[in-house]
Amino acid sequence: MRKEKKDQKSHVKCLRCRECKREYPLGPINICEVCFGPLEVEYDYDSIELDAKKIKSRKPNMWRYAELLPVDGDPVVQDVGFTPIFRARNLEKYFGCKEIWIKNDGVNFPTLSFKDRVVSIAVKKAKDFGFNAVACASTGNLANSVASISAMYGMKAFIFIPYDLEPTKILATSVYGAEVIGIKGNYDNVNRLCTEISERYKIAFVNINIRPFYSEGSKTYGFEIAEQLSFRLPDHVVVPIAGGSLIVKIWKAFKEFERLGLLKEVETRMYGAQPEGCAPVVNAVKKDLSIFTPVKEPKTIAKSLAIGNPPDGYYSIKVIRESKGYAESPSDKEIIEAIKILAEKEGIYTETAGGVTFGAFIRLLHSGKISKSDSSLICLTGNGLKTQEALAESVPPIKIIEPTIENFQKLYDDRLQDYKN
Ligand SMILES: *Cc1c(COP(=O)(O)O)cnc(C)c1O
Ligand SMILES: [Zn+2]
Repeated sequence: MRKEKKDQKSHVKCLRCRECKREYPLGPINICEVCFGPLEVEYDYDSIELDAKKIKSRKPNMWRYAELLPVDGDPVVQDVGFTPIFRARNLEKYFGCKEIWIKNDGVNFPTLSFKDRVVSIAVKKAKDFGFNAVACASTGNLANSVASISAMYGMKAFIFIPYDLEPTKILATSVYGAEVIGIKGNYDNVNRLCTEISERYKIAFVNINIRPFYSEGSKTYGFEIAEQLSFRLPDHVVVPIAGGSLIVKIWKAFKEFERLGLLKEVETRMYGAQPEGCAPVVNAVKKDLSIFTPVKEPKTIAKSLAIGNPPDGYYSIKVIRESKGYAESPSDKEIIEAIKILAEKEGIYTETAGGVTFGAFIRLLHSGKISKSDSSLICLTGNGLKTQEALAESVPPIKIIEPTIENFQKLYDDRLQDYKN
């Protein structure tokens, strides 16, 4: 047991500028001081020996990929990741598709979204770097996760959100004792303010000054796709885009596994999904541009994806183009429709972001961008219980009756014929 733990450790080397490649020692920094490019965690790949057998011998959580994560020592939150993946047979029948897979981070630990992956790394790094307080600029799920995981670490948390987020997401942040600050503005206003605060105070902003480490957590979503499908990737992977980090890091994960010999040549196409009311990346991809125009005033029920100026938007477009994928942006109506199809056909209640991703998949099927005879995987990232408001007017009201058999019979009348004793 102890021996297994010992070889399960990080092979991180340094931070490196994604643009000019200048190297930096590990620390709470995220921007290159020479060219202002974003910093990225670099690993000593040649020293990594990782095979399927080794991975499978480890506990079913995201730390089983330790060699490719920037974390040393034991993280406080153990049971993050390794969320279910399943073959969506009912959807295959419904759409006439050969192979559809769904991976569901809506049941991730501890706060039911994929953000637990990134935050469990970020808060650990914040602690390692000597911070006593963590913070974030959030569209909701990040707020929940930072509040919960900082509580586990006994650290102070400051959470900055647009003031008009879903009430459930606000409540599920405040409950952990975090300081929750609602900003009169959209996410981009929140993010700009947080950048200023991070320069003035010794606070670790998980998605700003800790961002290079934080975003590495998203790779585990990609590692798990590969491992859970027996190291054979699907033809198409559809990913929701908010800040754009997840899609970039799933691609990085596939490429790292390829480099280590765990995957054959990666030919998977990556597809981005954003809501119609906030789709800067999708719009750029559709116009075949490599640079996006920020959306000034996002307007969508998918608040968790409402980032008008995504920090990794540029790199998302790059990944989509490099992998020969595409992007789609369903309307609010299609988002709700998609949530309902997923619930009725597969028994999964996803949040609005999941409706965006699944709605984008449906569009891609209908336009022929994704062929029905190929294999596809849809990335669900959050839980429907956190965005109830979106569906309030789209599900029928319950039927209320007096507690007598006559009333029940009257209500269902002829529809009960098939169920008679
Ligand atoms: C944050 C978030 C995303 C996207 O994450 P990025 O890495 O910022 O693109 C997707 N789905 C949900 C539910 C999220 O909360
Ligand atoms: Zn640089």
